[in-house]
Amino acid sequence: MSETELKECQYCGRKVSKLVPVTADDIQRVYPPRLAWDQACEDCLPKIQAMSRVVPEYSLNRALGYLSTRVPILTAGLASLAVVVTVLSGGTIIARLSPSMFVGIVAVFTGLQIIWVRSRDRYGSTHDLRWSLNSRPVVRGLAVFIAGILVLILAAYLHF
Ligand SMILES: [Zn+2]
Repeated sequence: MSETELKECQYCGRKVSKLVPVTADDIQRVYPPRLAWDQACEDCLPKIQAMSRVVPEYSLNRALGYLSTRVPILTAGLASLAVVVTVLSGGTIIARLSPSMFVGIVAVFTGLQIIWVRSRDRYGSTHDLRWSLNSRPVVRGLAVFIAGILVLILAAYLHF
């Protein structure tokens, strides 16, 4: 075979007689790779697929374990903060809410914001919601969110 019939694989630089297509699915993206990178040698394709495979970093059990220890700590912390704010403000109503309700709502939105910020980039590149939400920072945000809800419930029932 002459040199001119060989094609260069952009991924490993080798010149081979046959290149195989690299699809969007192979790289776990919405769009196919750009020109010249949309083909690879037969050795490279499995490596590309293996490197692109989206593997959840965080198992459900680990997430639940983290939440079960972190939510009570955060809730206690937020409730203490709510009591301090209530005492310092002398029970002044902030935006029609009691100070402890206010602290709870701030926590809920902070949690949602952490979840949003951490998952949007991943979702943007993979469009895989399961994987996007499956990370430690997102679970951390979820802990803040749940603690905020619990403080709101406590504030409503205990009127502190
Ligand atoms: Zn190659």
